[in-house]
Amino acid sequence: MKICRFNDNRIGLVEGGQVYDVTEVAAQLPALKWPLEPGDQLIAHLERLKGQMQELKGRANPVALDSVKLLSPVANPSKIIAAPLNYQLHVAESKADKGIHNGVHLPDYDGFASPVAKFGVFLKSPSSIVGAGEGVRIAYPGRRNDHEVELAVIIGRKCKDVGREDAFSVVAGYAIGLDMTVRGPEDRSYRKSADTYSVLGPYLVTRDEVADPDALDFSITVNGEHRQKANTRDLITGVAELIEVASRAYTLYPGDIIMTGTPEGVNSIEPGDVMHAYIEGIGEMDVAIRAYDAPKEET
Ligand code: MN
Repeated sequence: MKICRFNDNRIGLVEGGQVYDVTEVAAQLPALKWPLEPGDQLIAHLERLKGQMQELKGRANPVALDSVKLLSPVANPSKIIAAPLNYQLHVAESKADKGIHNGVHLPDYDGFASPVAKFGVFLKSPSSIVGAGEGVRIAYPGRRNDHEVELAVIIGRKCKDVGREDAFSVVAGYAIGLDMTVRGPEDRSYRKSADTYSVLGPYLVTRDEVADPDALDFSITVNGEHRQKANTRDLITGVAELIEVASRAYTLYPGDIIMTGTPEGVNSIEPGDVMHAYIEGIGEMDVAIRAYDAPKEET
């Protein structure tokens, strides 16, 4: 099942390039009551709502996928978790290019089994999330702002201390993640968490449709120019182990997102550029880069 959020917070099922509006299913979600449980309520209740969504699809008039504005398929993630330096060739390019590591996050992991074993995972602000149709707005003009295309894993239920052998049972589905990054000396959480610096899309593909998330071709082009192209089989720390590592530190909630790391070929984007990202078995999306609009000065 491919589930999108579009236009004015409509919920859609995607099939054959068409979107079927099943927003009515949201009426089945529990009413808000303070204090709120962290996480995304649609993702939390997805399993029991899938049947009704299929029924609603049968009655819906489809519209073309490329005619709607795609929002993040997860509306309310409690956190976005991300893996640093998780492809060998990206470790190598980070070592070679001071413009990437800037002397701050040294890519060496001598004495450790993997970069994740040494550095752990890091967090991006949930307020940075957007969908493909919203685009990225440059937050740091005049600096090097990069694309990082990554497989994104979307957690389906509340869990803690999940072993890698059970890890896929807590997954709701997958999407393409863009971990947008400004290079420089600041902490990762500052450089990767500006508004629009986490893109999730084009929609959520449920777990049952992705046989092996550790064997997917993926790529990104900018204005048609090749930038990154790899396969998730080259992840140093694979999907199941990332869930184990993340859930050892944090309780995971429905809708939490794990960005699994980016391969070699990270490079800068400028206002007016259009990124085209693809992951095998998931989909593809265009994401436009918008200019920084400076805050208006009071006079
Ligand atoms: Mn990244």
